[in-house]
Amino acid sequence: EVRATLSDLDKKHIIHPVASPKRHVSQGPKIIFSEGKGIHVKDINEQVFIDGVSMLWNVNVGHGKKELAQIAHNQMSQMAYSSTFYGYANEPAIRLAEKIASLTPGDLDTIFYTSGGSESNDTAIKLSRFYWQLNGFSNKKKIISLKRGYHGVTVSAQRATGIDAFRNFSGSADPEIFNAKAHLTECELGDKSHPEYPGCIRSMIEEMGSDQVAAVIIEPIQGAGGVHVPPEGYLKAVRQLCDEYNILLIADEVICGFGRTGKMFGVDHWEITPDLMCIAKGITSGYIPLGGVVMNNRVAGTIKEYNDILPHGFTYSGHPTACAVGLKNIEIVEREGLVENAHQMGKELVKGFKYLGDKHEFFTNPRTVGLLAGFDLKKDPSLNVPFDQSTQAAVSIVEECYQRGLLIRCFDFEPGMNIVAIAPPLIIQKEEVETIISIVDDALSVFSKKLKG
Ligand code: PLP
Repeated sequence: EVRATLSDLDKKHIIHPVASPKRHVSQGPKIIFSEGKGIHVKDINEQVFIDGVSMLWNVNVGHGKKELAQIAHNQMSQMAYSSTFYGYANEPAIRLAEKIASLTPGDLDTIFYTSGGSESNDTAIKLSRFYWQLNGFSNKKKIISLKRGYHGVTVSAQRATGIDAFRNFSGSADPEIFNAKAHLTECELGDKSHPEYPGCIRSMIEEMGSDQVAAVIIEPIQGAGGVHVPPEGYLKAVRQLCDEYNILLIADEVICGFGRTGKMFGVDHWEITPDLMCIAKGITSGYIPLGGVVMNNRVAGTIKEYNDILPHGFTYSGHPTACAVGLKNIEIVEREGLVENAHQMGKELVKGFKYLGDKHEFFTNPRTVGLLAGFDLKKDPSLNVPFDQSTQAAVSIVEECYQRGLLIRCFDFEPGMNIVAIAPPLIIQKEEVETIISIVDDALSVFSKKLKG
């Protein structure tokens, strides 16, 4: 009864992001959530699901942490909001900045606050161009991003995104952003004979002229493009490339940051330090919107010399309640050893994937870094034959899992692509990982049976 009313109201009054509006109006919301606890979420009909992707890869400490509600309550009661414009400041924003500086690698010591990942990426792109302008290189404006990278939906972030439907949506602007044709291939490691070399970052820089290029933006491990882990040596090579051509490196840590991959940041796996690091999601585990761009002393130093008004900032830059929650969230991540738990539980996922790979002929290419994981479905993995589009392989698996109380995600935005992603909250325990694997196992078995008719 209540569900029907809410469903009708939703259909009437809300357009949902990343969903088909027409389908939504005919079918209504798939789930109306009401509660969350640990790795579980409940809908208004009391049905319980395992949140297998931490909602949008962000609820890292799990649902229902009362401490976070309490700290928000305390801060709101004391002073809910204050601006950080005009040199105004507040204690939570200052304390959180110090804490983040202590966690980020190298001399990434200064933050510009935003409210989310897209804003962080647009800010990083703007600030890297501004950095060059202040240093007398006004032509250095171009940005290079990667195929299948996902950076969000504000103007520059969307243009930097390497998923065509997003990149081209509604005439996305910022003509100075270029997307590499190659995707995390060996070519940056120096193999000029690689078939995708012309689409590689190095050849793009050489073609454009390094005096035109401000920055390269990458996710250390790509998330929404289908969970792609760079080959060994890749990120180091990109870092060296940026140094060689005097170009800034922006790492989009919006998904990887704050423990998701079994280290505090994604770049920590390859021991590189970007010039600018974009953070959001896991900084508050999604309890409240917050993001930021953390800069090294080279970039921050130049900007700090600018003796005029910086014409950039958001009403919610350094929101005290959001920052207080961020600080408490990091405290929980550290106190509960969640970075290490992500690493350990990632090993359990690897075991589970091995089992699934041995059992199901079309399960292939498993990849797991901490609790950021994915696999492909192929008709014939050994011959690299994809399923026909009409098979809807990944969609079927996600649907079967949903029927069994597990929420996961799939990606099929390129012909032949059938990727399934798993990224549960970092608090997950061994038995819960096993439950996820067992549900995916059942889903794969049902799919296999259907295929064989
Ligand atoms: N960057 C990455 C790597 C992301 O995964 C996302 C969102 O999924 C974004 C940026 C955009 O963040 P937001 O949706 O908070 O604007």
